[in-house]
Amino acid sequence: MTRTDRKREQDRAAGGHAKRFVSDESGVKVPATVVLTESRRTGHVVARLEWAAAGRRRRYSLGEVDHPTRSANLRAAWLLAEEAGLLVAEEIGNSWASSSGTRASMRSNRARDTKPELRLRSSLHREGLRFRVNARPVATLRRTADVLFTKHKVAVFVDGCYWHGCSTHRSIPSTNREFWVSKIEGNKSRDRETDSLLVEHGWFVVRVWEHTPIDDAAALVRLGLEESKSKHAARVLRADVR
Ligand SMILES: [Zn+2]
Repeated sequence: MTRTDRKREQDRAAGGHAKRFVSDESGVKVPATVVLTESRRTGHVVARLEWAAAGRRRRYSLGEVDHPTRSANLRAAWLLAEEAGLLVAEEIGNSWASSSGTRASMRSNRARDTKPELRLRSSLHREGLRFRVNARPVATLRRTADVLFTKHKVAVFVDGCYWHGCSTHRSIPSTNREFWVSKIEGNKSRDRETDSLLVEHGWFVVRVWEHTPIDDAAALVRLGLEESKSKHAARVLRADVR
């Protein structure tokens, strides 16, 4: 595949060239690329987002994708990048991360976002539970759950404290405060919308925070699997409602 072909393939998967940008340390938009590799341990396809900033290669792990074709996996990975809030929306241009402190905080929050998911998955896996990861509960809804029990119709979300506005750990940057408040409030109301949409489609939703101790998170998932069988249980379980 030529360089041009590779670029076109990425553009297509991202939904257009304009949708392939992240912000580097100085707030400049730089194009990113999805790289797919096969995990030697699990044999699963793992996606990461890569871009160059200050002459160095940056990487962000997006997680597993499990579609039958490369183009479907690339598409899925770009959706994960978008849903993780990594991509620069065109309308906000370069202004969205205007101080180095804000950017540093966003970077560390992003990096942390993925680890609690991995810990929860290994814990569930050790308990003998089998599930899909990073997949849409309802194919036609653009909502991706972190862990999915398709037989029980239980969707699990691990919400990052920063992006999903946990009241204990979020600290809104003082620069562009209004922007961040509305961005995080937007994420929160989208989460509530996701919950009702999935419940409408017969799913049971479990939400834990990245700060939820791993044993509590796993216990809540098990409770969700149990309660999903009952017609009378509430269809949404949250680690703590704050
Ligand atoms: Zn928190």
